[in-house]
Amino acid sequence: MAETFCLMADVGGTHLRTAVGSSSVHLLAKLHRKTRVELGPDGVIAQIEEMARESMREAGVDLRDIAAMVIAAPGPLDPVTGIVIEAPNMPGWHRVPLAGDVQKRLHVPVRAVNDANAAAVGEFRYGAGRGCRNLVYLTVSTGIGGGVIVDGRLMEGADGTAGELGHMTIDMHGPRCPCGNIGCLEVLASGTSIGRIFRERLAAGGTSVVSEWTDRATGADVTRAAAMGDALAVEVFSQAAQALGVGVVNVVNIFNPNVVVLGGGVTQAGDRLFEPVRTMVKERAMPISRETARILPVELGDDAGLYGALAIALDVAAARDQGEPAEVPSPGEK
Ligand SMILES: [Zn+2]
Repeated sequence: MAETFCLMADVGGTHLRTAVGSSSVHLLAKLHRKTRVELGPDGVIAQIEEMARESMREAGVDLRDIAAMVIAAPGPLDPVTGIVIEAPNMPGWHRVPLAGDVQKRLHVPVRAVNDANAAAVGEFRYGAGRGCRNLVYLTVSTGIGGGVIVDGRLMEGADGTAGELGHMTIDMHGPRCPCGNIGCLEVLASGTSIGRIFRERLAAGGTSVVSEWTDRATGADVTRAAAMGDALAVEVFSQAAQALGVGVVNVVNIFNPNVVVLGGGVTQAGDRLFEPVRTMVKERAMPISRETARILPVELGDDAGLYGALAIALDVAAARDQGEPAEVPSPGEK
């Protein structure tokens, strides 16, 4: 049987990645460019087409050989219609029919999937969760996103928006989150929040060896300062790590996962983040679940979304070959 090839794209407010893949060769002709967000949805969609065609040329694969394309994109996103409902870091992205528009340009079946869900599927199939049945993925960067695999399937929910783990309440008396809720994990532990909390503490009279960062300290600055032993930075970072730990305890109790995979820029702090999270799980999660759950760093890094898109595209192609009405994208059975 001829090899099934798929197209993948991972689009975000900063980075756009494309690749060609198959079940035997995972990521061929991988391209990575800055997203031309300033051109609005139509410009970015044209860029996706352009890079997808370039990946195919580089891989020596013709459009006729492509069974399906899957695009990982920021959400909320409707995986059934492929419409991006709102993309926070992409100006003008409001109810954009991403999958439909790319399909019109490339004439192959196109699906769209939430980027954090795609990364969860990628780590589940090809990364830190290989061989397990239940995985929760959390990306801790500018915001906090998540994806949940239960009994081998991506959990999508009634509207395809399940797995918004960044918006679970950690502190019911905490700060207001842009989502409208109070004390979400995201406003306590994202990179953006770590920077904001540090700046607030300095403005309130706190002192730090990095006082020159007062107005513009970012999460990355705080992480660096904490590594240098700056007392205020250590305190702010450690409180964020504790908030994340509480979030992971909730996740372990609710989903009983084999693996909780943590990715995103903030997790590059390594043990400074993983140690308090693991300790919190050991001390607070339900006994049976906490024995099972391993808290691991991502294995696929920035490629997790492309790997997830590949897994979903292969499933879409396989479902069609079997004559099944390919409904919602899911990682299916291993
Ligand atoms: Zn929120």
